[in-house]
Amino acid sequence: MGKLLKKTLSVLLALAVVVTFTPMIGGIATADAATKLSAPASFSGTASSDKAIKLSWSKSAGASKYIVYKNGKKLKTISSASLTDKDVKKGKTYKYYVKAKKGKQTSKATWTIKVKAAKNGNVSSLSVADNSKKLAAGSTAALKAKLTPSKSIVSKSVTWSSSNSKVAAVKNGKLTAKTAGTAKITARAHNGKTSAYKITVVKAAASIYTNGKIYTVEGKDWDKKPQKAMAVSSDGSILATGTDAAIKVYANNKTKAVDLKGKSVYPGFVDSHVHPPGTAMTELFEIDCYGLMKAADTLTCIRDFVTEHPDEAIYWGNGFNMGMVDETGNPPTKEWLDEICPDKPMILTSYDGHSLWLNSVALKACNITSESKAPAGGRIQLGADGEPNGILTDASSLVTLTHTYSDEQYREGMALFMESMNGWGYTACSTGGNGALKQAVDMDREGKITMHINYSSAFDPEDVDGSIAQLEEFAQYAKGAKNVKVGAMKFFTDGVVEGSTAYLLEPYTEGAGMGSNWTSAPKVDADTMKEAMLKISQKGYQIHTHAIGDAAVRQTLDCIEYAQKNAGRSDYRSAITHLQVVSEQDKARFGDLGIIAITQPYWFLKEPDWYDTVDELVLGPERAWNEYPMKSLIDHGALPTASGDYPVSSVNNPFWAIECGITRNLENAEYYDVADITDMNDTTWLLNPAERVSAKTMIEAYTINGAYQMFEEDQIGSLKSGKRADFIILDKDPMKINPLEIDSIKVLETYKDGKKVYENK
Ligand SMILES: [Zn+2]
Repeated sequence: MGKLLKKTLSVLLALAVVVTFTPMIGGIATADAATKLSAPASFSGTASSDKAIKLSWSKSAGASKYIVYKNGKKLKTISSASLTDKDVKKGKTYKYYVKAKKGKQTSKATWTIKVKAAKNGNVSSLSVADNSKKLAAGSTAALKAKLTPSKSIVSKSVTWSSSNSKVAAVKNGKLTAKTAGTAKITARAHNGKTSAYKITVVKAAASIYTNGKIYTVEGKDWDKKPQKAMAVSSDGSILATGTDAAIKVYANNKTKAVDLKGKSVYPGFVDSHVHPPGTAMTELFEIDCYGLMKAADTLTCIRDFVTEHPDEAIYWGNGFNMGMVDETGNPPTKEWLDEICPDKPMILTSYDGHSLWLNSVALKACNITSESKAPAGGRIQLGADGEPNGILTDASSLVTLTHTYSDEQYREGMALFMESMNGWGYTACSTGGNGALKQAVDMDREGKITMHINYSSAFDPEDVDGSIAQLEEFAQYAKGAKNVKVGAMKFFTDGVVEGSTAYLLEPYTEGAGMGSNWTSAPKVDADTMKEAMLKISQKGYQIHTHAIGDAAVRQTLDCIEYAQKNAGRSDYRSAITHLQVVSEQDKARFGDLGIIAITQPYWFLKEPDWYDTVDELVLGPERAWNEYPMKSLIDHGALPTASGDYPVSSVNNPFWAIECGITRNLENAEYYDVADITDMNDTTWLLNPAERVSAKTMIEAYTINGAYQMFEEDQIGSLKSGKRADFIILDKDPMKINPLEIDSIKVLETYKDGKKVYENK
């Protein structure tokens, strides 16, 4: 009974009279027990506001009426078991009791209660309501509590407090979120009732992106579950990805809100083998033949440059196509250049970087004659007269004329390089050499870098110790830079197929013009390479190797295996790039050794003006058909990354490569100046469809795998809380459209560290 009383009078107001369990029965005595009248079993009073007190009691068996007394005077006789007394004044205490009545019989026992007409009424229950559990720093919110029984008194009768006012302060029913952290927010009614909730204050976003398709490339099923929204911090990191509602929490009134209108967002792309500054130096300062596939266009370009720059002492240029031929089907020679420039040296580099094209004056100036010897793995092409015909392949060391740029020119070149890369959707890269490394580091320290770069330093087989010393010197120079580091040594195991300098297990065909026994040779002997790779592995650097022929790939695997077995580390991420001809029996070694296969999917087709005249001609139909494996390498455990080898692919648009990786077919008819295809199985340009991979694989190659190759997967490569906000917004979704249309995808905007570094206008 005592417990029941407390419960009934939980409004905390005083109970004046304690009643025994069985009320005394009084009044007129009667013999019949059934007619006995009992007092109510319980009685309660609540001040529901400062103007009324509500009384109620349990019905007594047999009672027809109740007499309610107030301060000793009869207040009212009533037949129901409740009564609201409105004749009260706030702050005053009233004493009530009730008697049961039946006919003339009155129960003697009474319940008595004291109720104070409280200032703000009595609250029987209090709960916090509709308050955000998560708020962005710098935002405010009105606090709400729900009280019963009264609603009208809520604002006056509740006080709020915060357990940590540095995180969240409360004042006048308003909460101000201050800094990231948690706090307990408590509501207290005037009568002591409390209710609390935990609030998490999150860092405010500098910008939020909502209503999009955000492919985070996090987790196995990222392709099936794009997120809707993303919040980006002012420090350039990602705060969160999630639903629109979950991300809007990160906004305060200074946050920039971007409606993506359904567009797709991907992590910024990583090019895993690029040569900075790409075509920039050529675009800015030299004869620029990149992208010109035909001889006539190339010669016009050269002639125009000479006309516009009559005073150059030496003409340098880049980007010519080794596969081009004149009307009679002949490849380029010195005579083509002599006709345009008979009196000054002219030296052009092919777009793959492996061949040089010199006019007669340049050959003479460098003293290159029929007696000259090519360096290991290199070649001096001879004409019908037995004299050098102007084409050198993998023999650039024979060129003694030098070409230097100023620091300022390199900076201009790097700026243009990054602008181009950002425009194609890249925010990171691994390099295949140390071009403009110093300028990149300097610009990084000045905050002028819009790419995350992992440089490699070129290996010189003639000077192993010197190469390692230079790598360490570069790494030291870049130490502490935010975006640029030097982490790898770049080896060349062989040359290129088009120069017949790729190192093959079986001889080239007669079509290569090198007789029937020509396999070419490695640029560096296996023993030198093994020891060098071991040394750089021991020092904690990464191996990044160019290998094109199957013999070169095998030698590279042998050397990497040796280095990894003996260097005593656990995480090497050794990478091999190009991988044009790979022996079936070597494929499993990629998985065994954890090799990263750096692919160039741009080349995964029977390239117009190339496949017939170069690859198929010199390799023969079978090796050419099976060139550039991707799927079979992945099936054997290789981790694929992707690249354009820019400036080798002079238009480094990753969507061309993604399309080509998926279709192994023509990806941009306009670029090649041929008729387009409408069916990805059209056989005109189709190259071995068994090596096709999915769009998902291509995207991973260009994002998270590329980041892994850079040892930066905890920073970039996917869109995840804490990682850098490097991302791109696309006009079409490569995961959803017809693969043959992927090459038409446009990068609308590119962001590095949350800042817009490119906008398609
Ligand atoms: Zn390269």
